[in-house]
Amino acid sequence: MKVLIIDDSAEALLLAKARLAQESLEVICANSGREGLDTAAAEMPDLILLDVDMPDMSGFTVCQMLQQSPTLCMVPVIFLSGSQDARDKVRGLDLGAVDYVTKPFDAFELRARVRAALRTKRLQDLLLTCTQIDPLTELGNRRALDAGLQQEWSRAERTGTPLALVMVDIDLFKRVNDHFGHHGGDDVLARVASILRNQCRQCDRVFRYGGEEFVLLLPGESAASAANVADRCRRAIAQWPVKTVKGVVEVTASFGTADSRQASCSQELIDLADAAMYNAKRQGRNCVCLAQQPQLRRAV
Ligand code: GH3
Ligand code: MG
Ligand code: MG
Repeated sequence: MKVLIIDDSAEALLLAKARLAQESLEVICANSGREGLDTAAAEMPDLILLDVDMPDMSGFTVCQMLQQSPTLCMVPVIFLSGSQDARDKVRGLDLGAVDYVTKPFDAFELRARVRAALRTKRLQDLLLTCTQIDPLTELGNRRALDAGLQQEWSRAERTGTPLALVMVDIDLFKRVNDHFGHHGGDDVLARVASILRNQCRQCDRVFRYGGEEFVLLLPGESAASAANVADRCRRAIAQWPVKTVKGVVEVTASFGTADSRQASCSQELIDLADAAMYNAKRQGRNCVCLAQQPQLRRAV
C-alpha cells in the first residue's frame, strides 16, 4: 500500500520515512500543503500522514480540501503534530482525520497506528469493490462508472489529454429475452461484457451502465479513434453468436462515441455519447456514430 507523508520539514520527512521503512509500504513525500494535494491527486495514496504546522497551508486546510475532493475524500489522514493541545486534536479528528499522533512520536506507536489505519482502508476498499461490481457481468456498475468517470475526467483536465466515452446498447434485446428467456438474455449480457473487456486495452475501463447498456472509458482517445475501438467491438459481437439452452442467439449492438473536448462536464460527455448511440439506432442499429458536436469547445 502507498503512504504519502506531507511535511514542510525535510528532517521530519526523512524521520517519518525511516520509521515506516520496515512496513513494506511504498512511501512518497511532499514538502508543502499544495504539493501534497497535487501528489495525492496524482498518486492516490492509501494513507496520508499530514503535518499540521506548515507555512504555505496548514494541515487542517489540506485536510479540509481533501475532504471536499470527490476522489480523495476516502483517503484516511493521520495528523502529525507538535501540539499536545486537546483542542487541536479535537479539531483534526472533527475535520475527518482517522488519527492524531503527537511529535516526537514513538516509532512503534506510529507504525502500529499506520497499520491500524491501513487495515481499515483495506476493508473500506473491499466494501467499495463489493458495492461497485455488477455480479452478472463482473464489470463495474453505474456507481463505479460515476467514480471512474470523475477520476478520468480530472486526469484528462490535469494532463491536457482527451478522454473518450463509448455508449453501447444491445440491439432489440427485449426480443432476446422474449425468445430465449431471461437466462438466455443473461448469457448474452455476460458474453457481450467479456467481448468488450477483451477488445479494450488494459488502461481502458468497461462498465455496465444499466440493463443492456455498457460504457467504455478510453483515456487519451478522441471520439474518432474511440469509434475504431467501438467498431472492433461491434464486429466481434456480431461475429460470435451466443449459445443458450434455448438455442443460438445472433447479437448486435449500437455504439455512440464522444470525447471530453466536446463537453464541458462529465455528464455532458455521457449525454453526447448517449445521443450518438440513439443516432446509431435510428440509422438501423449494429453501427457506430460519433457525437454531433463538430466545434471543439475546449483547446485540448
Ligand atoms: P433497442 O435496440 O432499441 O435498444 O431495443 P431493446 O429491446 O434492446 O431495448 P429496450 O429498452 O426496449 O429493452 C431492454 C430490455 O433489457 C428490457 C429488459 O427486460 C432487458 N433487461 C434489462 N436488464 C436485464 C438483465 O439483467 N437480464 C436480462 N435478461 N434482461 C435485462
Ligand atoms: Mg437500452
Ligand atoms: Mg437495447
